[in-house]
Amino acid sequence: MSALPSSVRIREVGPRDGFQNEPDVIETADKVRLIGELGRTGLRRIEVTSFVRPDVIPQLADAAAVLEAVELPDTVSVSVLIPNQRGLERALEHRARFQEINGFLSASESHNQRNVGRSIEESLTGLERTFARARAEGLRCEGVISVSFGCPYDGRVAPERVFSIARRLADAGAEEIGFGDTTGMANPVQVRAFFAAAREALPRVELTAHFHNTRGQGLANVLAALEVGIDSFESSFGELGGCPVPAGATGNIATEDLVSMLHEMGIETGIDLIALVQASRSVQQVLGRTLGSHVLRAGPVQWASPAAG
Ligand code: ZN
Repeated sequence: MSALPSSVRIREVGPRDGFQNEPDVIETADKVRLIGELGRTGLRRIEVTSFVRPDVIPQLADAAAVLEAVELPDTVSVSVLIPNQRGLERALEHRARFQEINGFLSASESHNQRNVGRSIEESLTGLERTFARARAEGLRCEGVISVSFGCPYDGRVAPERVFSIARRLADAGAEEIGFGDTTGMANPVQVRAFFAAAREALPRVELTAHFHNTRGQGLANVLAALEVGIDSFESSFGELGGCPVPAGATGNIATEDLVSMLHEMGIETGIDLIALVQASRSVQQVLGRTLGSHVLRAGPVQWASPAAG
């Protein structure tokens, strides 16, 4: 086994991936306050919202208002999720407020059809245009491939197929490719093989792992990815997020669980875990229910009581 990375980059996606799946609309002021708290934890990358059609995802209908109001340190690279060219044009009205875009599609035809009503080829063609326009505006582009490790409709997707989609995104100008385990189907053996092959297949792009904890394997998958040199991850404070399919599924891996594990393993993140736990407590308070994050419930390791049996 090769040495683990000494530091990793983490993009907090809770304000988009997490909030998007909340059934009750969160007040814009609460979102702005929570994102501000996240910005004071040392996080360097935050996905703050998405310019999807407001009638499709009413929760994110305030994308422009959130983007304009958030107060974040200059050290934070702000990204927004862009579903299509129209969404990009809406986002560009606030160009000064963000540095990165995230354009997405699915690794399987069925998931892409159900998610965005297009074939993979149609999505790729659209993303090529979107990325070209974004790059002309000086924006950094991330391409995210959902269901990279398995699709609830089509089952396992051949890694070579995922890499060929990734290559098209890289050719279109994506500097970073995120591989999403959208429905929590990945296992650590699969993840290790996948990312070892991905590093060979895509040597010049930043490879990012986006795991969900749907079946409790999220952090095991992180370790597997670390073991083959992956040092970029996406996660969600409080373990917010999830996916409508399968119903009732839990969300992304919790950022505080990820940070806690990495710090205990001697891997740097630049994030203040205590401040992060505080931000997760705040979101838990706003949502009024207990969230899935383990560190949120148990507290960081340094708070552990010696008397606990
Ligand atoms: Zn996710």
